[in-house]
Order: sequence, then C-alpha cells, then structure tokens
Amino acid sequence: METIQSIGASHGFGFGDLSIYTKEIDLEARIVNNFQKTIESITKEFESKVETLKGENRKIEAEVLESYIVILRDPEINNNLSTNSTLEEVFTVFEENAKQMESLDDEYFAQRAEDIRSLCKDVIIGMQDASSSFELQEGTILAAEDLTPTDTSNMDLNNIEGLIIKYGGPTSHAVIVAKNLGIPCVIGLNDNFTRLKNGQKILINGENGEVIINPDTDRIDELQKKIKEQEALVSSFTKKKLEDSDLDLRVNIGSSEEIDQFNSEVLESIGLFRSEFIFLDSKEPPSLDQQISVNNKLSKKFSGTVIYRLLDVGGDKQVEYLNINKEENPFLGVRGIRLIESNENVFSSQLESIFKSDLHSRAKVMLPMVSTLEDLYTTRRLIKEIAEKEGKEPLPMGVMIETPSAALIAEKLADNVDFFSIGSNDLTQYTLAADRGNVELRKYQDPLHPSVLKLINNVISTGINKGIEVSVCGEMASDSIASIILYSLGLRVFSLSPSSAALIFHTLSDSKFIRDKTPLNIDEFAHAEEIREYVNENN
Ligand code: PEP
Ligand code: MG
Repeated sequence: METIQSIGASHGFGFGDLSIYTKEIDLEARIVNNFQKTIESITKEFESKVETLKGENRKIEAEVLESYIVILRDPEINNNLSTNSTLEEVFTVFEENAKQMESLDDEYFAQRAEDIRSLCKDVIIGMQDASSSFELQEGTILAAEDLTPTDTSNMDLNNIEGLIIKYGGPTSHAVIVAKNLGIPCVIGLNDNFTRLKNGQKILINGENGEVIINPDTDRIDELQKKIKEQEALVSSFTKKKLEDSDLDLRVNIGSSEEIDQFNSEVLESIGLFRSEFIFLDSKEPPSLDQQISVNNKLSKKFSGTVIYRLLDVGGDKQVEYLNINKEENPFLGVRGIRLIESNENVFSSQLESIFKSDLHSRAKVMLPMVSTLEDLYTTRRLIKEIAEKEGKEPLPMGVMIETPSAALIAEKLADNVDFFSIGSNDLTQYTLAADRGNVELRKYQDPLHPSVLKLINNVISTGINKGIEVSVCGEMASDSIASIILYSLGLRVFSLSPSSAALIFHTLSDSKFIRDKTPLNIDEFAHAEEIREYVNENN
C-alpha cells in the first residue's frame, strides 16, 4: 500500500482498477488528412457537441468547448500553418503558442496553455486519422495528463469510478465534467504521476486528495462502509428533519459551476456567497448587468437568505484590472474591505447589482477582512445612498470575523452590525500567524487550537448576549468534531459545502457529547489534539 497526496477537486470516494490514458503522438507518422481539413472537421464536431450540450442544459461544458473552438480558429496558429504543413510544424506552432501563454505567469493562462497542448494532440491524431476512442471497463479509475472534450466524448464515462489528473486546474474541462457527473476527482499529482501503473488497484478520496495505490483489505472495507453510510445519510436528510431541529444549515457558493450544480431539496440559503469569482473569471470589470444576472440566477436557485460577501481580493487572489499595488505581504495588505477606499465604484456596483436584482428582499451584505470599526463606514454610507436612490429599504449588513482584532472587539462591532459570520480559515491563519496555503505549516493550521477557539467562543457568546446572529462559514463548519465543539459553544447556524450538510446534520443530531451537555472549558486545554481527543472520548 502506498499513498500519494494530491488535491481533491470533485467530492466522493472512488475505487477501481487503474487505466492510464495516454495520447502518444508520432510526429513521423503518415499524414492522411491535411491540417486545414482536420481543423475544419474537429471544429465542426465541437460545434455540433456545443449544440447537444446546450440542449441538455450542460452550459458550462458547452462554454469550455466554445473556448476550444476559439483556439482552433486562432489566427496565431492558422496563419502559420497550411494544407502542406508537416506534423512537426503543427506541433511546433501549437507548442510556441502554449509557451507564450505560460510566460504570462498567471493561473488562467497556464490552464489555456494546457488546453492548447491537448488540442494539438487531437489535431495531430486527426491528421493521422488515428482513432482516439478508448475502451473503458466497468469500475475504472482513469488517470490522464489532462482530458479534452474530444477525449471525454470518446469514452463511456459511466464506467469511471474516479479520475486522476496529472496537472489540471479547478476550471479544467476534466474537473468540470467530473463535478457535473458526480465523479470523484483529484488533480495536481505532477511528478508523482509516474508512480501510477496500469492495472493497479486504486482508491481516491476527492475531498482530501489522497490516492492510495493497492490499498489493503482493511482500507477497502473501510471505504465501502463509508460509501454506504454516506448514501444512507444523504437519503435520510430531509427538509422536515432540518425544520424540526434547532439547526440552520446553509451553503457556501464560490463559482458559477457551484450555482449550476447546486441541487438540494433540503437546503435553501447561502451563508457565504464568495462574489469575487465574478471578478476573477473576467479580464475586465464585470458590468452591472452581468452582476445582476448572476444575482437573478442565484435568486432562482435559492429561496432563502443569501449572504452576499463583498469582493474579497488582495491576499492570494489578484485581479489585474483593479487598483491594487504589488505588496510585500499581500495577506496583511490592502485586502477585502480595505480595498473600498481605492475602488469605491467596484463595491458600489456590487451593492447596486443586489438592489436591482430579484435577490434584494432576501440578501444581506457581508464585509470581508474587517479589523476596525472604521472598516464599516464607507459600506454603510454606500448602502444608505443606493437605498435612497432606488427607493428601497437598506440591506442588512454584517461582518466576517476573520481577524483576531474583529474577534476581540466583537462587542463594539455587534452594536454596529446585524450579524457575524466567523471565517475560521483566515481567523486561524491570522491567529497562529501561519499562511493558510503553505503545506509545511500544517501543524499551525488547526482551527481547534485553543487560541482560535477562545476567539470563536468570545464571538459566539457576544452574539448571543447582544441578540445578533452568529454563523461559521469557514471550512471547520464542515468538520465533524469541530461542528460538535461549535454547537457546544452555542452556535446553531452553519454554512458549509453542500456535500457536507447531511453528514454534519447527522453528526450533530446523534452526538452523545451534545446530548449529555458535556462541559467544555477551552481554558483547560493547551493543544488542539487534546480537545479533539476529549470530544472523541465523550462522544
Ligand atoms: C474564511 O476565511 O474562513 C472564509 C470563509 O473566507 P475565505 O475562505 O473565502 O477567505
Ligand atoms: Mg476569509
């Protein structure tokens, strides 16, 4: 048994026999179809697939395919190749284009470079008239460097139990297809990919990114049990049960795919809408109409409250067209609501888009990265001004509690806002002074550390005393032990990934620790591990 750590990209567990998909290209092979003819036939094939996908309401896949058609028509490629081009020349032109994209040193363009390379293989295979169809046996874990729409359309995806993608980004075609079809998927194996061999038994965990090669029978039994348990949990999680409980479970939404894929008869509210994806997905500022249309889409899918977090960029998320200076320490820089001073028009357009959309009566505005009372002033003024202009009631306004400062002045903040939502991801990073994205700092990234829990406890009890709602929207809300601790500290509103809701509901409903009202005094603990053990022992 051997374990490789990669990145979880589509939830779920998959187990099966490994099949590695390679598209070896032979640049010496005989040309059957010339370059022009091949480009035309692939483009036509893609166009007809776009129509089919649109007909099946698979909009995102259709959009990806449309972006491939743009690459196939790119003059940078076509002007340098002709009916007489050799395979070597085709390869060189595509590769030069891919390298140019990569040199821009940006995640978006790096992904486009991979798209160009995959399409180049499709074109060369098409010129050789070689078939790229790939037989998949039932129960396959498929591993590939990447998968293009041509690849996936030549496969019976129903036979795939899990996907392993060597490179892949969260917006790559393979990941989108996996998510749409509910196939567990992991990405970013990079050099570890060479440890995979055809025929190995493989187990993947789409949540934590674990890839286990030749797992022992205990691991397999454990997994099969987990899959059955998960299925049973999901089917027994009903609206009635949630309504009869004292819990308010909401979801986190952070991309248009997540809006499209959301499908639940139980959950109806958004506890954290990470609006920055609307800006990150675009090369220029999104128009007011574009923003209104996203809000209207949200409004159709979610009938409950929508907590709309204003733009949270800076830090690790950069948007070229905004007024953000390069900083030595971006996580401690002009991030989140601190940007409002230099980009007031952007924040104001976000607020206006809410007022002008169907969301207006159900939306609440939330400010990211608040650390002082002054951080509230400009947004408060803008909400008032826009409400007056639109002749509507001002929107409720709350804050993310994700800096130690905000947690420590919770009393003062509570007098000035309508709700708190604890961003435990950043609260942990700033309390333990450990970059949340640095894997070497794992031991400093546990939100159950007593220092973090003390701050959280202060925020929850302040909210209860002052009569304002407190929720947790960081990843700890989706963790079983953490959820029991949060409940014991008085929390009832959890905002989590949609796929974790059933598990957390059952964890909290069945918890002995909670039923017994087990005392929990954070001051008695010095380490996160001790708290975890204490809950485990008494649960
Ligand atoms: C958090 O910091 O906990 C949070 C929910 O916000 P994000 O992960 O988007 O920074
Ligand atoms: Mg945060």
